[in-house]
Amino acid sequence: MFKRIIGTKDILPEEVSSWQEIEEASRRVFSLYNYKEIRPPLMEEAGLFNRSLGETAEVVQKQMFLVNSAPISNGKQEKTKQFYCLRPEATASIVRAYLENHLDKTFGFTKLYYIGPMFRLERPQKGRLREFHHIGCEAIGSLDAALDIEVISLADNLLKEYNIKDYKIQINSLGCQKDRKNLTAILGKSLMQKKEQLCVDCQQRLGRNILRVLDCKNESCREILIKLELSDDYLCPDCKMHFKQVKEGLENLKIGYNVNPYLVRGLDYYTRTVFEITHNELGSQDALGAGGRYDNLVAELGGQSTGAIGFAFGVERLLLVTRSQGHKVTSKNLVYLITLGKEARQQGLKLLAQMRQKGISADTDYEEKSLKGAMRRANDLAASQVIIIGEDEIKKGVVLLKDMATGEQSEITRDQVLRQLSGRT
Ligand code: AMP
Repeated sequence: MFKRIIGTKDILPEEVSSWQEIEEASRRVFSLYNYKEIRPPLMEEAGLFNRSLGETAEVVQKQMFLVNSAPISNGKQEKTKQFYCLRPEATASIVRAYLENHLDKTFGFTKLYYIGPMFRLERPQKGRLREFHHIGCEAIGSLDAALDIEVISLADNLLKEYNIKDYKIQINSLGCQKDRKNLTAILGKSLMQKKEQLCVDCQQRLGRNILRVLDCKNESCREILIKLELSDDYLCPDCKMHFKQVKEGLENLKIGYNVNPYLVRGLDYYTRTVFEITHNELGSQDALGAGGRYDNLVAELGGQSTGAIGFAFGVERLLLVTRSQGHKVTSKNLVYLITLGKEARQQGLKLLAQMRQKGISADTDYEEKSLKGAMRRANDLAASQVIIIGEDEIKKGVVLLKDMATGEQSEITRDQVLRQLSGRT
């Protein structure tokens, strides 16, 4: 028998309702903030991510799912080999789509959201999969600190709408490209002297992507990092001011946050504000979501230089927290029809069709179960009402309607049943 691929998950019918609740809540909140949905493809040219995330980013170096693609003719008879990959994240795809479809020219400032699967070749563990799902957004076309505040408040409101409590918002500013270089130099100076004491991964990061050392979870690295006494001195006056405005704006909206100078995020495209939202319930993989500004990416991918910011939540992690906090999915009303005998079956199937036409969710038994078996099935399906039609009911021209919560039964006509059930909430 075939098995699912390691790091992937079957989302079974009993779980799907919680997925739908999260998706519906997200759509509601995104629309309150006037974000429009975008659905870019799941596959992109691998080069798009090398270029945007940076060659040294872990996602690019180790985690890309490259797709074996056929060579494509470039129109001059030679065939070029294209490297495709399953998208590891959506920001780069969305900026590509924004430019390729001229949204920059048509709309200028644009607010987009997306919901869908991402793929990373990671070592699977709790809360870390190879195929996982993001709910995220991107606001492209502004450098205004008010937008950073809106985006963080949007993330905060989404979590409230999901009914998640006790999360922590951490923020930091990486500054502009020049500031990032300053920070890199400051870190290089202090960390190079301690190279031998760092973990093997961090020793490599020193040369390739030193900022990444800051969010290493290794104990010995953490001890060294704690003593660094980082401040925001590497920020230029403009970036310092921008960060100050963001912090004041969050305070104004009463959104709790901590400044974490160790928060850097691993990708090249981040500038200025970065943020991460964590939850203790998640254990070692504690990030529910993360994001930040990427003011150089649009120009890097061929557009006019402009500011942008976005974030993404991991849906599987949102669900881990909602389940551990005991949220119950409210079951939808289902009417289960049980018929006994040929005549009852015919009348019942007609009633079933009428109920569905009236927008009543209804089902029946297709396995020729006994009355007892069919009642058990109605219970398993958490039906709110059962309709039974047997010979007696046919003679009397009624149906038996049973409320599964109270156990109450009543004999009523088919017209009455339709009226009663379509009027319920
Ligand atoms: P990132 O793009 O890495 O900042 O991810 C944003 C969010 O997606 C994280 O905070 C996680 O909630 C989630 N996430 C990232 N990678 C994975 C993964 N491999 N498995 C499950 N969720 C993930």
